[in-house]
Amino acid sequence: MMIGIDLGTTNSLAACFRNGKAEIIPNRLGERLTPSVVSVDDDGTVYVGKTARERGILHPLETARVFKRSMGTDKEYLLGGRRFSAEELSSLVLRSLKEDAEVYLGESVTEAIISVPAYFNDLQRKATKRAGELAGLNVSRIINEPTAAAIAYGMGSDGKDARYLVFDLGGGTFDVSILELYGPIMEVHAIAGDNFIGGEDFTDLLATMFLERCAIAPETLDVRTLNEVRKVAEACKCGFAESNLVAMCCTIGGEEHEMILTLAEYEKACAPLLQKLRKPIERSLRDAGVSLDEIDQVVMVGGATRLPVVSRFVAKMFRRIPGSLVDPDEAVALGAALQCGMKARDKEIREVVLTDVCPYTLGTSVVKNNGVFEESGHYLPIIERNTVIPVSRTQTVYTASDNQTRVTVDVLQGESRMAHNNLLLGEITVPVPPGPRGKEAVDITYTYDVNALLEVEVYVHSTKVKRKIIIQNEQNRMSEEEAEARMEALQYLKQNPRHDEANQLQLLRGERLYEQTVGADRMAVGQALMEFEAVLSKQDRTEIERARKKLERTLNDIEYGRK
Ligand code: AMP
Repeated sequence: MMIGIDLGTTNSLAACFRNGKAEIIPNRLGERLTPSVVSVDDDGTVYVGKTARERGILHPLETARVFKRSMGTDKEYLLGGRRFSAEELSSLVLRSLKEDAEVYLGESVTEAIISVPAYFNDLQRKATKRAGELAGLNVSRIINEPTAAAIAYGMGSDGKDARYLVFDLGGGTFDVSILELYGPIMEVHAIAGDNFIGGEDFTDLLATMFLERCAIAPETLDVRTLNEVRKVAEACKCGFAESNLVAMCCTIGGEEHEMILTLAEYEKACAPLLQKLRKPIERSLRDAGVSLDEIDQVVMVGGATRLPVVSRFVAKMFRRIPGSLVDPDEAVALGAALQCGMKARDKEIREVVLTDVCPYTLGTSVVKNNGVFEESGHYLPIIERNTVIPVSRTQTVYTASDNQTRVTVDVLQGESRMAHNNLLLGEITVPVPPGPRGKEAVDITYTYDVNALLEVEVYVHSTKVKRKIIIQNEQNRMSEEEAEARMEALQYLKQNPRHDEANQLQLLRGERLYEQTVGADRMAVGQALMEFEAVLSKQDRTEIERARKKLERTLNDIEYGRK
C-alpha cells in the first residue's frame, strides 16, 4: 500500500486513496494531526507526536521540534544521550505515521509519496527521501506541497479549469505557487518562498510582546519557563481565530502575569512579518507573468493561514476572500494521497498530468572577461528557476588557461551573479588534453527529474570522456553499509508502546500540571495521578479506559478551568 505524507514543520499527517477518494488516516490517538515532535528518554524510548510534545514541556532538553528547518544540514540533536540528525528525527515521525497507517488500513505500508516545501533545495529533498527510507518506506515521489494542495483543490472543485495561487504558510516555512489546471494538465507556472518565516514566528512575536509588556527579560528565564510562555502564546494566537481580544496569562517565578491584547494591536506588531510574506507573492506573479487579477482562486494551506491577521492580509492584497474548500491542514496530505491514486492508476481518479517546475536556478561558475580583465567566480545559469521539469539543459564551456589538464565543474544553486553567494551542491572533474586556452570544449548537462533530483554530466568533445554524478551532500553522504547501520541503530530504539500512548499522554500532562500548580489544584492532580497509577497496575483494559477518562476530565478542569 502506498500513502501520501505531509511531513510538516509543526504537524505531520498521512492520507491514502481508497474507494475512489482521498482520506486522512487518524493516528493511534484517533487524531488527524501528529505533532512533528520527537522525545527520547535516557533508556532510549522514543516518543513521537502529542506525547512527545507533552513530554517536551518537562524535558525540553530531551525533546526536538521544528527540525524540518534543519533537514539536509549537519545539525545534531542530543536527545537521551544519543545524537540524531534532522533526517533521523524525521524518520522517527515517518515511522510512527507508517505504523499508524498499517493499523488503520490493516495492511502493510511500504511506499510513500512525501511532500516538501517547493522551496526545499536539493539537499533538503534528498534528506527527506532518506528519512523515508530510514523509516522503511520506499519513497516513490517527492511532491511539492503547493502542487499537492492544488491537486486537492483542483480535484475537489469538479476539475474546472482555473488558475490558482497557493499560499502555504506552515509552522516554519512559506511557499507561494501559481498553478493552472486546464483539461487533463496541472501545470505549475512559478514557485517562490521563504524557508525562514512561518506560524512559529507569529507565536514568538506574541511571546516577546508578552515578556516586554510584563517587563521580563527573556534571558533571565530558564528553558522550561520560556517553553511555557511560548505554549501559552501559541494558545492565545489560535484564540484570535475566535475573538478579537485575547488574554494571555502566565505564572512566572510564582507571580501571575497577564496581557490583554486586541487583534488590531497584534496586527500592527505583525506588520514586518506580513511584509516578508509579500515578497515571494510578488516574485511568483512576476515569474509566472500574471497579474493579481488573473488569479481565479487563492488557496490557503498550512495551519498558520487560520490566523485572521494572515487571512486579512491575503484578502486585502488580492481583494477577494481566499478559498476554504479543503481544510488548510489537510490539503497537502490529501493531494499527496490523490497523487498516490494517480500513480497506482486507480480507475476512479481522473488522470492528471502534473508538470512541475524547479524552484531555483542551477548553474556553475565560470571565468568571465569584462573587457579589461578576466575574473573568475561568475555564475553561469544552466537551468533557470521556474523551468518546467523534467528538464535537461546543456551549456558548453572552454578551457580558461593554457595547458590546463582538467576542468572542474562546480554545481551551484541560487540566483546570485557571483558564484560564491550560491549554494555549492557538488563538483565534478574531467581530464582534458593540455593545449592553448579555449581549445578544449566541455559540455555540461544538468538534468532535473520529476522528483527534483539533479544529475550532472560532463562531456569532453575531443576525447569523448564522459563523467556523471547524481548530486549528493558530500558530508552527509552515507554508504549503503552506513545507511543500514543507522537504520539498525534506529530500529533498536524502543518505541513507546502504542496501546499505552493515550495513558502516557495523560500521565505526562498530570506530571506537568503538578509542577505548574500549587495548593488545592496541585493536591487534586497528585491524588488523580495516584489513583490512575493504581488502576494501571491492575492491567484491566476496560477499567483503565474508564480511569483514564476520569483523569483526563480532572486535568481538563484544572488546566482549562483556570483560564
Ligand atoms: P503546519 O506546519 O501547516 O501544521 O502549521 C502549523 C502552524 O499553524 C503553527 O505555527 C500553528 O501555530 C499555526 N496554527 C494552527 N492553528 C492555528 C489557528 N487556529 N490560528 C493561528 N495559527 C494556527
